[in-house]
Amino acid sequence: MIQFAVEKANRVLVIAHIDPDGDAIGSLTAVGQAMQQLGKRIMLVCDDNVPQRFHYLPLAGDVRRAPNPDANYDLVVAVDCADEARMGWAYACLPEPKPTLANIDHHITNTRFGAFNVVDPAASSTAEILCRFLDEIGVTMTRGIADSLLTGIVTDTIGFRTTNVTAATLRAAAALVDCGADIADISLRALHRRPLATAQVWGLGLGRMTFQDGLLWTSIGRNEMRRLGLDGNPSSSGLVNFLADVEDVAIGVVLSEMPSESVRVSMRAVPPYNVAEVAMQMGGGGHVLAAGFTLDGPLEQAEATVVAACLDAIRRQRPA
Ligand code: AMP
Ligand code: MN
Ligand code: MN
Repeated sequence: MIQFAVEKANRVLVIAHIDPDGDAIGSLTAVGQAMQQLGKRIMLVCDDNVPQRFHYLPLAGDVRRAPNPDANYDLVVAVDCADEARMGWAYACLPEPKPTLANIDHHITNTRFGAFNVVDPAASSTAEILCRFLDEIGVTMTRGIADSLLTGIVTDTIGFRTTNVTAATLRAAAALVDCGADIADISLRALHRRPLATAQVWGLGLGRMTFQDGLLWTSIGRNEMRRLGLDGNPSSSGLVNFLADVEDVAIGVVLSEMPSESVRVSMRAVPPYNVAEVAMQMGGGGHVLAAGFTLDGPLEQAEATVVAACLDAIRRQRPA
């Protein structure tokens, strides 16, 4: 039972996925606060920096880029990670034998890589799973934990708009609001407010978007990212969400070239289309309606590969 593993652990390492989003950081900081409340020594780690827009969350300033390799953690908790690789170096760098691993996630492509797996692909977000789970292990909901969890739910559901939002999601969110979480403030900070450079990247992307047979896609080069002062971390999934909202779109795609020349691919589908299938085929993962993967560059070649795979998926998945 995961309850016992948590109970007997003294040092807990919590890991969020690389290139973190609001659900990853919200879940990471919620579990961190919860473990502190239970008297554990905690270490919160993510391979990539916590995006500026989540800096208001408790413990956001305590997230490190790497764990302490000599720390002898008793338990590792992975949040919002579909597979072991999503934890990146944060887990890979731990010496063998690695500590007991708990996997708390909601991706349909989750590989059940933990000794304990709290995985519910029907949940809107990892944060929604944690609302229930933290209560079950005896954590008292605080304002800080509520802020973290509501950030996860609001961002992963794009403000309660996705098809996996259920009455249970809304009840969980309502309970967080009852604990003091400010839903308007969280929605503004975590979802809608964005740096000027992000809007400028969108401008570049929208200026050269291409539509063909239900696929609307665009790409951003690494020199463009650099010129705008973006470090290659795709700054928000807002652009790809926007593309998928355009009329007659079945699949929206954004390709972002990283400083390393690898290409980060973000996909969104409109029901009944399925991008998890395309992501799996390409060695990535995600959800039916939102998924991603990384390809080798150059950008033009990656773009040709992705466009062919998506057009093929649209042809196969198109309702008769
Ligand atoms: P994004 O387009 O980055 O917002 O990602 C969409 C969804 O797919 C998120 O739930 C991600 O966690 C997931 N995802 C993105 N890339 C990968 C990957 N390489 N492996 C597994 N899941 C991924
Ligand atoms: Mn995520
Ligand atoms: Mn998530």
